[in-house]
Amino acid sequence: TGLAGLKCFNPRDFTTDKHRTVDDKPFGGGPGMLMKTEPLQAAIGAARTSLERDGKGLKTRTIYLSPQGRPLDQTSVRELAERQQLLLVCGRYQGIDQRLLDSEVDEEWSVGDYVLSGGELAAMVLADAVIRCLPGALGDEDSVDQDSFSAGLLHCPEFTRPQMVGERQVPEILLGGNHEQIRRWRIKQSLGMTWLKRPDLLERQQLDRQQQALLQEFIKEHNSNAQSAES
Ligand code: SAM
Repeated sequence: TGLAGLKCFNPRDFTTDKHRTVDDKPFGGGPGMLMKTEPLQAAIGAARTSLERDGKGLKTRTIYLSPQGRPLDQTSVRELAERQQLLLVCGRYQGIDQRLLDSEVDEEWSVGDYVLSGGELAAMVLADAVIRCLPGALGDEDSVDQDSFSAGLLHCPEFTRPQMVGERQVPEILLGGNHEQIRRWRIKQSLGMTWLKRPDLLERQQLDRQQQALLQEFIKEHNSNAQSAES
């Protein structure tokens, strides 16, 4: 659709030796290897030149995907989606020489507190999350605003056909066609799901009076359902 373009630059294509070496030993010894400096720097340089040519002078931000980076969340994804061009640098082995980070990288972003073997999957995660925020990426533009985290809460449960799955029925209210009641039910469920699954998100929210009342309603119903299940 031409919504976003992707170009890949492989440091191996910027090597000068017969074996096309892209790793090197760390100074001071220790386990593992690091990305070899010269091919990586040349690959970043070529990517930057290409982006600046395609972007006709637009500023390019260089991002290193790193477990030490700022954790990616929906708010930061939306901010990244405002940028016209991103240059994503993926590490391998034990990572990248600190001097390259200092000279070539503007920001470091992490996809979570765990360690991947390489930055490629992290770059794909970031790119996918950013691209689906771009206008025209989704069939229904409102989807992004209703997604989990957009308003700091989890998305409410959703149901599709058939009306019965085994013994389980679609909540009555969703079949009734009363838009105000459906809207209210969805807010209540969204608050309730967040309370059940991610109470840490709720702690960061300032709930208005209606939201507080709906959450209390959810908790009451939840506790009474749990009690009847026990007896
Ligand atoms: N030695 C590094 C450390 O402990 O901080 C980890 C290096 S990791 C094995 C190799 C590469 O995977 C990194 O250079 C980075 O590009 C990528 N990577 C690993 N975990 C990541 C994460 N959680 N988020 C983003 N990138 C990650």
